[in-house]
Amino acid sequence: MVWLRRDLRLSDLPPLAAAASGTDSSVLVCFVVDPRLEKSSGERRLAFLFDSLRDIDDKLHGKLLVARGRPEDEIPRLARAVDAERVHISEDFAPFGRRRDEAVAAALGDIELEATGSPYLVSPGRVTKDDGSPYKVFTPYSKRWRDHGWRAPADSSVPAKRIIDPSDLTKAGRIEIPPAPTTLSIPAGEDAALARWAEFVDADLADYDSGRNDPAGDSTSRMSAYLKYGNIHPRTLAADLGRSASRSSTGAQAYLRELAFRDFYADVLYHWPHSLWHNWNRQFDGIDLDTDKKAHERFDAWKAGRTGFPLVDAGMRQLAETGYMHNRVRMVTASFLVKDLHLPWWWGAEWFLEQLIDGDMASNNHGWQWAAGTGTDAAPYFRVFNPEAQAKKFDPDGEYIRRWVGDTDADDYPEPMVDHKAEREEALRRFGQI
Ligand code: FAD
Repeated sequence: MVWLRRDLRLSDLPPLAAAASGTDSSVLVCFVVDPRLEKSSGERRLAFLFDSLRDIDDKLHGKLLVARGRPEDEIPRLARAVDAERVHISEDFAPFGRRRDEAVAAALGDIELEATGSPYLVSPGRVTKDDGSPYKVFTPYSKRWRDHGWRAPADSSVPAKRIIDPSDLTKAGRIEIPPAPTTLSIPAGEDAALARWAEFVDADLADYDSGRNDPAGDSTSRMSAYLKYGNIHPRTLAADLGRSASRSSTGAQAYLRELAFRDFYADVLYHWPHSLWHNWNRQFDGIDLDTDKKAHERFDAWKAGRTGFPLVDAGMRQLAETGYMHNRVRMVTASFLVKDLHLPWWWGAEWFLEQLIDGDMASNNHGWQWAAGTGTDAAPYFRVFNPEAQAKKFDPDGEYIRRWVGDTDADDYPEPMVDHKAEREEALRRFGQI
């Protein structure tokens, strides 16, 4: 039996290959909608998830079994219904997933829960210093990470007749795949992921190193949601980047570095699970943050894209309207919340997770800690982004701002809600106190 979680594709899927190898027995492919995760995912992520499931179900000619409940109840029940020898998964390293998988393994009893592969190029915990301790700084991590290497994509196709048809299982507790609660700006599924990747490689990879900092150009890959849900594995991307024509190109190198960042943040979370919602660097726990009624009003203005700082507002409106925000602008809006408004970074992180299609705990919460200066090799606390200078540098013609905010001279556009210079001093004063 194959239990899908964050690996919503059929090609190059190690648990499926493992389930089908060495035997000619049949395979049940299933997904369990866990109400705990349903509650904590934003509408857009649920839509992406359900559309990804529909895509797999189509590819399996209607043979994907979807159940709803706690996996520690559902997985053993399904495994017994098909008399499974083993349940195959790809490994989940986040705190919730690890706890859940331990509970499922215990509930399965004699039936083994076997993990093959993970959503990462190099799984968390594998890249360590010579003394076995984890890296706290990205650059040396990324060097070791490259040396570690990863395997090439592999075929995982299984003849259709070997996939168990769940309609034959009378007591399977099968549910219909829920309808997507909203429409998405990024179409879900394996084919959509491959098509988008091919388009990016063709049009924008060569210039990625400079293009990635141009929010108006919008020329980054948009692979984040596909990677989050495993519609595509980073192995496929890395294999293309490594092909001879692009091997030495700066674009391919820069892109690989971003994939290393993704693995690094998952590794940090694996070693320091507290960093999900608490300062990775506990020295910052004592900092004075605003959480009163006024702070909530400021938070609401930030969420609504009505701070009066055009680049911040453009980013927040892009997020609210599409469920996506360009990386450069994620950094600027995050810095503004923490250093100009003096609000807790986890308020912002939670809002991002609710809105983003690519919302991912490790990348998001550590991205936030980078901006807040509380993370591993974070932006130093004394570096405070100036939102106007950032706009001049990265949106010099104001194109991105016009696209999402319109006319910033219009009567209904708000005045700047704070004095950046004064708030910068205030942020430094608060850091100085600790
Ligand atoms: P590309 O520039 O094409 O990058 C390629 C891939 O590399 C991305 O898809 C992503 O998987 C990875 N990547 C790129 N930058 C980073 C990074 N800084 N950290 C980790 N991985 C990276 N990324 C998420 O996937 N989910 C999140 O919830 C998320 N939240 C963020 C919050 C903040 C405050 C910040 C500063 C960054 C966040 N990022 C997050 C990282 C980054 O902004 C997005 O991965 C990127 O904007 C997605 O667009 P893309 O796929 O076109 O990126």
